[in-house]
Amino acid sequence: MSAGLFPSPFPGGADLTFGGGNGLLRSPANEPRKVNAMGNAYEIYALRYATMAPRTPSMNFLAPDPHDATAQDLDYFVWLIRGGGRNILVDTGFNAEEAALRARKLTLNPVDALEAFGVKADAIQDVVVTHLHYDHAGNLDRFPHARFHLQEREMSYATGRCMCNGMLRHPFSVEHVTLMVRHVYGERVTFHSGDGEIAPGVTVHRVGGHSDGLQVVRVDTARGPVVLASDASHYYANLHKRSPFPIVYNVGDMAQGWEIVERLAGHPDRFIPGHDPIVAEIYPRASDKVDAFALHEQPSRSFAK
Ligand SMILES: [Zn+2]
Ligand SMILES: [Zn+2]
Repeated sequence: MSAGLFPSPFPGGADLTFGGGNGLLRSPANEPRKVNAMGNAYEIYALRYATMAPRTPSMNFLAPDPHDATAQDLDYFVWLIRGGGRNILVDTGFNAEEAALRARKLTLNPVDALEAFGVKADAIQDVVVTHLHYDHAGNLDRFPHARFHLQEREMSYATGRCMCNGMLRHPFSVEHVTLMVRHVYGERVTFHSGDGEIAPGVTVHRVGGHSDGLQVVRVDTARGPVVLASDASHYYANLHKRSPFPIVYNVGDMAQGWEIVERLAGHPDRFIPGHDPIVAEIYPRASDKVDAFALHEQPSRSFAK
């Protein structure tokens, strides 16, 4: 079981407990802690690099509402966290080769999206890989100076017995997983077990469910902690309706994951789903060159009841 404990209800957050030395990447003595009255105020940008349309409810919900026939697009994002001199990338998207294999439409490679946004791939020091599915863990050869943060259980899952099953294996690319194995051998991977810290105010938390080692990322911002839920909830509706996305390893863990995401965020407007086009509608556009949206800003629409 995970070594970390779940955080207590917010506000606060100082009571996160980390498991036995997991994930402490650098000695705090070497890194000045940027602390102000608001805590660590990072900026977060969602960079959209692909879209898939249209998708019927049965593609998005394990048990779709029979009265709902509304088609929804699925957007693909990577997320850039900036602050305190750091550029932390969350997920690495897929490339043109993988898009062709899966008949997906790639708007542009996430590495090019990053560059258009003003951040070169070689300036990325840390990459959090939420899980190893093809749309989150491609381009692993494009970040020469990055350290990769992965849950221990995700590496085990993606290289273990479950990959003998076609349905469970389908969202993975053996090329991506192989590259991650190479990074392990190159001592470029920090494994986390449960909860872990990437930088002061940026923490990862295993939720599992969708993939056994899926982790979400909690980031301190000026509007409070924002949780990048990745595929813990593809759409707002998966979490709001407590309705699983059909790609799932463990439904029980997925259901617990929604509770964890809500608790970590502390407010419904501070949870960011992994693939929902609504994100691009309600967060301010942050670039005229690329589809980038500022998640540290308030959304134009609130989900608070
Ligand atoms: Zn996934
Ligand atoms: Zn995904």
